[in-house]
This record gives sequence, structure tokens and C-alpha cells, in this order.
Amino acid sequence: MQPTRHFDRAKRATESRWREVHPGCFAGVTVGALVPPYYIAVTDEDAPSAAALSDGGRAQLFAGLENLRGRLEARMGPSTVMVFEHGAAGGADWGSSCINEHHMHVVGVTSSLVGAVEQAFVEAGGEGRLVRDWAELQAWADSSYQLFSTRPGEYRVFSDGPRFSRQFGRQVLAERLGIGSQYNWRDHPMLQNMRLGTQILDSLLAEEKAA
Ligand SMILES: [Zn+2]
Repeated sequence: MQPTRHFDRAKRATESRWREVHPGCFAGVTVGALVPPYYIAVTDEDAPSAAALSDGGRAQLFAGLENLRGRLEARMGPSTVMVFEHGAAGGADWGSSCINEHHMHVVGVTSSLVGAVEQAFVEAGGEGRLVRDWAELQAWADSSYQLFSTRPGEYRVFSDGPRFSRQFGRQVLAERLGIGSQYNWRDHPMLQNMRLGTQILDSLLAEEKAA
């Protein structure tokens, strides 16, 4: 299969929504931003999932997304940010992703909404496996899985998930927000939220510089 190139380096350099939040890790407001602070984090490597990245790439990705989560929570409060990855490894099965390139969703909402989405993941996938070190994700490099995290250093991996629907985290979040019919980013890019999200990201990064 020809890999898609949504996140290739040249494109990223020219697309205005990407910011380097940590060496080698880029965050950008996502198309289909269900809420304003809704980002995806990626690296320069071509890999279908975080699990399939090289050890170095995975370290860059998680350092970057945890940096972003920390900045967001410093502003929004504790436990207000969720991180998830759906559909690793692509394909047409239950784990099927929104796109065929690794990307982590980093979303700021409220702590109660974070809890509600977490509950939905557990209802669909059971307790999953708690991974405390992202290096361990390599075990899922060749398989489909869903990852959900509410705090740094705790990543719950669900690898048995026929009950997961496509874009699961997005679907559940959209439902809980009362906009369930608009979960699909292809039909609902949410341009206003994208603009706001970019402003928020820039102000978070400016704070860091000023500090
Ligand atoms: Zn996705």
C-alpha cells in the first residue's frame, strides 16, 4: 500500500498550522476540531502508529505531546486533557484510523468530560493494558490497538476491540458534547475551532518563551 503523506516534512514546513513543540515533534490544530484546543502530535517519521515508530521517534513524540499536555493543563486545570490514538496500523478492521499515518490526539476539555470519554473506552475495550513507559508500545507495532491516557506516564492500550467504532475517541467526544453527528472530520472541519485552537497553541508557546 502506498503510504499517505499527510505529514511529510516539506508539507509541514509550509503549512501554517504546525508548530514544533519539542525537537522532532510537531503539533497542529486538527481538521475537525471538536473543541478549540484539539491538536494532533506527529513526528517526521513515516509510521502507521506510535507503536510502529522507532524508539527515538516514539521518544520524540511522547516528549512533545506531554510537553503540550503540561502546557494546556497549566492553563485549563488538572485532568482536563486527554490523549488518545485510534486506529493504529490502519486497515479496514475495528482499529482503523482516521488516516494512515501515526498521530496522537491531544484534546483539552473538562475533567468530567475526560472521565466520561475514558469510561466509554473501558466499556468498549475492557480494562486494557496499562503501559507506563512508552517504549513498551513497541509490542503493538504490528497490530491494531486503541490508546487512551488521562495523565503522563499512564497509557491504557486496548488491543481487543471489536466494539470500537471508527474514529472512536472522536465519536464519543462528539456525542458527549452534544454534536454526535459531526464527529467525522471529513464532513465537519470546524474551521472556527481550528482558528481558535491555533491562537491558543501560539499563546501557550509564547508563554513558554516568555517564562
Ligand atoms: Zn486519529
